[in-house]
Amino acid sequence: MNDIRRQTISNVKKILVKIGSAVITGAEGLDLKIINALVREMSDLAGQGYSIVLVTSGAIASGKHRLNIKGSLKSIPEKQAAAAVGQGRLMRVYSKAFENKGLYVAQILLTLSDLTDRQRYLNIRNTLSTLTQWGVIPIINENDSVAVDEIKFGDNDNLAAMIANIVEADIFINLTSTAGLYDCNPAQSKKAKLISLVHEITSEIEAAATVETSSVGTGGMKSKILAAKKVTAIGIPCVIAPGKRKNILTDILAGKEAGTLFLPMADRLNSKKYWIAFTLRSRGRLIIDDGAKKALLDKGKSLLPSGIIAVEGDFDQGEKVSCVDHEGTILAKGLVNFSSVEIRKIMGLKSSKIYSVLGHKDYDEIIHRDNMVITQ
Ligand code: GLU
Repeated sequence: MNDIRRQTISNVKKILVKIGSAVITGAEGLDLKIINALVREMSDLAGQGYSIVLVTSGAIASGKHRLNIKGSLKSIPEKQAAAAVGQGRLMRVYSKAFENKGLYVAQILLTLSDLTDRQRYLNIRNTLSTLTQWGVIPIINENDSVAVDEIKFGDNDNLAAMIANIVEADIFINLTSTAGLYDCNPAQSKKAKLISLVHEITSEIEAAATVETSSVGTGGMKSKILAAKKVTAIGIPCVIAPGKRKNILTDILAGKEAGTLFLPMADRLNSKKYWIAFTLRSRGRLIIDDGAKKALLDKGKSLLPSGIIAVEGDFDQGEKVSCVDHEGTILAKGLVNFSSVEIRKIMGLKSSKIYSVLGHKDYDEIIHRDNMVITQ
């Protein structure tokens, strides 16, 4: 289990799962084995108290298979007609699978104009929150049969990103046919390496994703990265993960290594805190008393010299240290405003005494709250 993943999933309650066509359709149309396996996982998670909202593709691919159409559908009316055939089947399969687990589902078909109209947007939000309160699983897809270009989401990655925002999901899990995001196209290079963690979606990350799609999907990796960018920008972490891998959802929610995790970016402080907590190495330890422990853990305060009992290690101003209680339990990590030599001189004293002891005082706190992560 890995710290950053565990931290990311620690407060997750509402999960937006998006399933791509390439995950649930094969040569035989809808792949019931995969659908049943994913539904089993989602039902188990619902049983554990998570709320699940599902965005699923597969209508067009399923309709095409039903009608025994070979080759790709060229015209928009053909795709719209195939979606009309396939959507019913898609829902029947999900509905049966969830009902076997004692859960009801609700179908919601949307076009982009449903979300750009404020009143309809609010109606959709209310419907989704009521379904969630009732413990019903909303299953959402684009209303392909009525959507024309101007009112299309384009692909379900984009639709799912918008839904994640509407339902205020705590995580967006985008299940696809690849293992995650690679540093270059794995279909073209044997050296392609899976990127397991993305702190920030930079231009290099965007360049690593190609527009190429599977034979049944629409968006390709490019649209998945754009969707990840949208949700992480509003503080929702995103995982792009292999939908056919056994126990994939359970593994993600157990903090196990799976797919590519994109950390939320909404709050710069948050990413700075992630950096403090996970990227930097601790250079020493400050042993703090019970009063300081309470101030840090319960009151959201900074660490002052008065609460420090002892200093371990040699470090400079700006370096990372751990704050521990007298039993050695790590309570917090942060960047110090003073060196270890200075802290040894001022520990136990009031901040007002710093100047007279050190001959300078740039800060009142040893570690300011903004530069501190509580780990307990
Ligand atoms: N709405 C389409 C379908 O159900 C899929 C769109 C997509 O793959 O992004 O077939």
